[in-house]
Amino acid sequence: MQKPARYIGCEDGARVPAHGDGIVSWLLTYPDTYEIGLPNQGLQILYEIINERPDGAAERAYSPWTDLEPLLRRERIPLFSVDSHRGADQFDIIAFNLSAELTYTNVLNCLDLAGVPIRSADRADDDLLVGVGGHCTYNPEPIADFVDFVVLGDGEEVVGEITALVREWKKAGKNSGTREGLLRELAKIVGVYVPSMYEVRYEDGALVEIAPRHADVPTTIEKRTIADLADWPYPKTQLVPMTEVVHDRLSVEVFRGCTRGCRFCQAGMITRPVRERPAEQVRTMISEGLQRTGYDEVALTSLSTADFSGIEKVVTDTVTDAGCDQVSVALPSLRVDAFTVGIAAQLQRARRTGLTFAPEAGTWRMRQVINKLIREEDLYGAVESAFSQGWRRMKLYFLTGLPTETDEDTLGIAEMARNCVALGKTHKSSASVTVSVGGFVPKPFTPFQWFGQNTVAELQRKIGLLRDDTRRAKGVQLKWHDPKATLIEGITSRGDRRLGPVIEYVWRNGGVFQEWSEHFDYDLWLEAMAANDCDVDWYVHRHRTEDEVLPWDHLSAGLHKDFLWQDWRDALDELGLEDCRWTPCYDCGACTGYGIEHRVASATPPAGGSQGTGVDLGSTRGVPVELVPRTEVGVS
Ligand code: SF4
Repeated sequence: MQKPARYIGCEDGARVPAHGDGIVSWLLTYPDTYEIGLPNQGLQILYEIINERPDGAAERAYSPWTDLEPLLRRERIPLFSVDSHRGADQFDIIAFNLSAELTYTNVLNCLDLAGVPIRSADRADDDLLVGVGGHCTYNPEPIADFVDFVVLGDGEEVVGEITALVREWKKAGKNSGTREGLLRELAKIVGVYVPSMYEVRYEDGALVEIAPRHADVPTTIEKRTIADLADWPYPKTQLVPMTEVVHDRLSVEVFRGCTRGCRFCQAGMITRPVRERPAEQVRTMISEGLQRTGYDEVALTSLSTADFSGIEKVVTDTVTDAGCDQVSVALPSLRVDAFTVGIAAQLQRARRTGLTFAPEAGTWRMRQVINKLIREEDLYGAVESAFSQGWRRMKLYFLTGLPTETDEDTLGIAEMARNCVALGKTHKSSASVTVSVGGFVPKPFTPFQWFGQNTVAELQRKIGLLRDDTRRAKGVQLKWHDPKATLIEGITSRGDRRLGPVIEYVWRNGGVFQEWSEHFDYDLWLEAMAANDCDVDWYVHRHRTEDEVLPWDHLSAGLHKDFLWQDWRDALDELGLEDCRWTPCYDCGACTGYGIEHRVASATPPAGGSQGTGVDLGSTRGVPVELVPRTEVGVS
């Protein structure tokens, strides 16, 4: 195999916990390569929390790459943990972090390699329990047949409750025929969804109901939300890999949740309300983390880091404590304004590499529709400021295929790029801009969940427009995401349980690592849809109506459905909504339903007002491109 370092473990921070009686063992699995999965903070947080429990043991596994898998099968070696190289069959629970739909076939492959039947209904009492968590689980129906339980929302508290329940079940004798009983008890834990406990009913091909089979199983499954991030300063000992991975740096989460209300952004909607970590705790986590790991770079993570009320102080302290030339600070997901460029300048004094902005749409009209309220003058002000301070390259992120998008909106992307290059050239003749265009996929629990996604042909036509329009624009480079991969993501994002056989068909016919362009097999997915009588048009391109039962209606992300519908109507009316942190509440349900209000240290908007999110100052070192899954990208 090419990269054995993917499988040896032994990282600084790795644990080899004791297993045995009275201990519930979890194999936390990321269904992609080690390089992509290792930095995942959610997985590392749960790894530590479970290992701190006297009744818990957690180890990690990642999808074996295609060079190792045939060897495992030939030698009859099961999927194994990287920590102790124990076979997956020696654990009680295998739990997957799902952050991308195209990894679903890898989940099936890992289950098969683990020696567990891929369908929940075929598992015996002493088979592994199969759980999933992560953002994709807000519509788990396409994979419902393959999993025993699904965790919705923050995992910090609920993993303890699941561990305690499974411990008692083990004590009673795992082989005493109680798996069904265990699943029923799991279904009663708030935030845990057990698909086999629910009956799905269709009429005339349409979903009409997903209802519990038993009276003691909840009708609606509420997500879990931890109230105070200060209680959870994890990971305390972040893993330091011995081989190259994406985001190879210290990460400190500064807050969870977002209230800017970008209508295309599922993460922003499902993680409300905003919960900030105290600035003092952030500083401690940075200084202790840098000291322990030896990293010379720290990323302050969140969905919109410049909105962190303690940002200036934390950044200044970090730079002062560590010395700017020794430690760099990356601030993913910032606003587009001069304030953030100012922070960038402070942080990247020595190394001016690339700067990334995400205006998402090329015209003000389109940005009002998606509620990304960045005005042109703010963007150009930020760009001007960055070029004048020494940056020479800039990356701009956009979406195409958005609701109500016209050709004028699409071409607005090219115009914005040309204007940015022109601004840059007033400072440096080599100034350049890379425009990265992704196809829009409507996601559950967003106001766009009712929108019919653009076809592959329409996305290709729009990309063609942009290619033609930027062909002769000096200094503008265009990159785009493969519209065919966008279509498959669309199928799996809003599908129902009838897609299970489609995913299984793709996996059985060799479709793994579908996130990777060299393995992505579009024709196989279409073949699988046809073989299972699933109509692509019905699943992807059709607009949904207000009264339609959606496959995730029995789950709750805390958001009222009528709020989302009203927001969808406002989008069509090109009406933007201000950030509810600084304006009156719109009663979306996220705070009121959980009795948790936004926890922010500052009561006033940060400098820069409430402009939309959108700058990624990235890493001063940069992410090694060859390690990122690539269903991307054309280059023109
Ligand atoms: S409940 Fe109100 S304040 Fe809380 S996230 Fe929703 S709109 Fe904002």
